[in-house]
Amino acid sequence: MDKSKDAATSGYNAKVEAFREEEYPMLKGSVYLDHAGTTPYPKSLMDSFVRDMTSNLYGNPHSGSSSSQLTTSRIEDIRLRVLQFFNADPADFDVVFVANATAGIKLVVDALRAAPDGFDYAYHQASHTSLVGIREEARNSLCLDDRQVEEWVTGQSPFEGHGEDRPTLFAYPAQSNMDGSRFPLRWSETIRWDTKSSRSRTYTLLDAAAYVCSLPLDLSCVEKAPDFTVLSFYKIFGFPDLGALIVRRQAEEVFNTSKYFGGGTVDMVVCLKEQWHAPRNQFLHERLEHGTLPIHNIIALDAAMDAHQRLFGSMKAVSKHTRFLLKRLDRGLRSIRHGNDRHVCTIYSPEPGPQVDGGPVVAFNIRNSQNAWVSLAEVEKLATLKGFHIRTGGVCNPGGIASALGLEPWEMRQNFSSGFRCGTDNDITAGKPTGIIRASLGAMSTISDVDAFVDFIAEFYQDLTIPPALAVPTISPPIRTDLVVRSISIYPIKSCGHFQVPPRVDWEVRPEGLAWDREWCLVHQGTGQALSQKRYPKMALIRPALDLGRGELGVRYIGETGSHLPREISIPLSKNPSLFRPPATLGSRSSRVCGDEILAQTYVSTEINDFFSGALGVPCMLARFPPGGQGKSMRHSKAHLQKHQLPLVTPILKTPHLPGSFPGDRPPSPPDSDTERSAQERRILLSNESPILAITLPSLNALNAEIRRTGSKHRGEISPDVFRANIVIGPASDTTRAPIEPYVEDTWSDLRIGDDAHKFEMLGSCRRCHMVCINQETAEKGEEPFVTLSKTRRFDGKVFFGVHMAVTSKTQFPSLRVGDVVVPS
Ligand SMILES: *Cc1c(COP(=O)(O)O)cnc(C)c1O
Repeated sequence: MDKSKDAATSGYNAKVEAFREEEYPMLKGSVYLDHAGTTPYPKSLMDSFVRDMTSNLYGNPHSGSSSSQLTTSRIEDIRLRVLQFFNADPADFDVVFVANATAGIKLVVDALRAAPDGFDYAYHQASHTSLVGIREEARNSLCLDDRQVEEWVTGQSPFEGHGEDRPTLFAYPAQSNMDGSRFPLRWSETIRWDTKSSRSRTYTLLDAAAYVCSLPLDLSCVEKAPDFTVLSFYKIFGFPDLGALIVRRQAEEVFNTSKYFGGGTVDMVVCLKEQWHAPRNQFLHERLEHGTLPIHNIIALDAAMDAHQRLFGSMKAVSKHTRFLLKRLDRGLRSIRHGNDRHVCTIYSPEPGPQVDGGPVVAFNIRNSQNAWVSLAEVEKLATLKGFHIRTGGVCNPGGIASALGLEPWEMRQNFSSGFRCGTDNDITAGKPTGIIRASLGAMSTISDVDAFVDFIAEFYQDLTIPPALAVPTISPPIRTDLVVRSISIYPIKSCGHFQVPPRVDWEVRPEGLAWDREWCLVHQGTGQALSQKRYPKMALIRPALDLGRGELGVRYIGETGSHLPREISIPLSKNPSLFRPPATLGSRSSRVCGDEILAQTYVSTEINDFFSGALGVPCMLARFPPGGQGKSMRHSKAHLQKHQLPLVTPILKTPHLPGSFPGDRPPSPPDSDTERSAQERRILLSNESPILAITLPSLNALNAEIRRTGSKHRGEISPDVFRANIVIGPASDTTRAPIEPYVEDTWSDLRIGDDAHKFEMLGSCRRCHMVCINQETAEKGEEPFVTLSKTRRFDGKVFFGVHMAVTSKTQFPSLRVGDVVVPS
């Protein structure tokens, strides 16, 4: 990588390299990359603090003793110094010392909550958890993205319509602690004076905790400044454990409604007979700093500011240096690629550039050469072993994480109800990471820290030795073939209608089958037997639609129902246990699906169960059989190669076979017993036999031609729908000549599908019954195509059409989309 040093920062870097060992002895042998968490404190700061403490006596303020007077005057000076650090005029601002940024936020909330009519609250989606929590105290609350805030800035209050005159609080981070994104400070000014809104005052709360670590915060223009600014000093200086709430004095009125008073906040209190007190009211901080101040911490702040200035110069210098390092880290991580040219790091932080000024934070995740996510817990363990201090996980930024990782609220709830918690090892669920890796830089970071980290990621996660078969399209274009995936269908509820995967949508494929396929079924309330379309053809008229955005499975019934019945219902995708009957009641009694005894979770909702019972006229319940179950909550594939598919069979199948005409001299079972074993261990959900079922259009066309030729009574073409396949494979367009012979799928041993050439193993032909005669549009039964199939496609007394398959790619969760190229072998 580029080891050249930027002239502007090499002086700074050399200086820090020179005192690093001396000032940070506790960091020996390690690299600290968690500055937005806490910065390490330099040794000279601790030394000077100890010197101050051992040479001066600091007493409790508010008395006349010299020790008390000394404390009071030091604190007054430091309060002023803090304001000066942020360029804030004491005439316009006051500093309230608090334990940390969160405590500052709580002081503001306590005051607004006490307003006669409460307050409304809006917060930016990149907010830290400590800002998000405010919503629990507000009358109305909204989480806004950039666009919505910008609309507000131009005068469209997001609360319009509520039309209340209670105060509004708008909070946002100056810099996201998740990915370093920075947000405009001008928001405070414009939103406060949002004149078009009829609402009363809007107050702004700026969370500057992450921002101030690497950038000077300038409050010199009082009109532009936020009403409330919160921060934690330990994040800038490493010590002391102290924070501040900086209040614009024009907004002090907010605190007038606070009722509680504590020691140090009143001039006089009368308790006996009368209850009266005189609040101190010259300065806001006198009213808000209850009890004894953290005097030693405040005094340590002085030493901390001295040390910071001595070691690093100004915040401006820190900012320049950290920005330089950020670019180097960002570029370094982006440049690491696997042998197949794929990026190792997926970076969520904005890429630094002339227009983009993010904080010195890189939030990312790692993928292996097969595109599978690497577990955060694994990265953290290895990083720890190698001496890197980084942060992984949800980093207290729920909205930022959700938008970076594309996690929908229901997915987060589902991850939660399936046992995911911050800080557990189970950090990749349903093919998505649940958190990020965060490397953040600060004043004492150096070029060698950055380079060491980039080298570490490359050393352990870059894969330069990729089997050529899997070294894919980015280097070598996929083999041209005219065969593609023509459609993809999911049957969320066993035996009910299909849901067609829309074009341009990547659909996840799991070992058990396509995501959400046959995860639900309807079970008879009396026998527990899973209902099948064979007996209840009207099930074809139950039409499910997955809405992953809303986290719902919508279900419509398109047949005739009694007028009292709803036509549609929506079922949450969440696995929240409260949706299901608790185990050990009727609902957990075992059910039967295709001869297997299983345990499925039945829904408690009578609305849901009545909908299905009413539609079908059968007392039934909806049940769910999610992936990952054990014991009776799991099933295994039964598909296997059929005799007619074995190598000795020649020629393939255009000649009709008669019952019993099958030659008897072939091996009794497939030769590869490994394949046989893995087939037995292959899990499925509620599909009949195998994870995925595919059919080909050339075979369907041949079947339709045969039906026409034999002059059967059947009118019209047999639709591919009757075979209830997941994947329909065919020529890229109806006009291209069929690139394959009919029924050649019986001879395929595997398929590669899509740009990533995901590998699928063929598991044998699919045996058919007369259910293929149910018209999936009308639920009417006919006799075709079963009659023609049994004449042309019968082997050993059984009728076959279509093939079973399963994904074998090592990739965590490959995906398919309509139009993907199919390459058989
Ligand atoms: C660290 C941080 C906080 C919380 O600070 P505390 O000191 O824990 O109260 C809030 N917001 C941001 C952006 C932070 O980085």
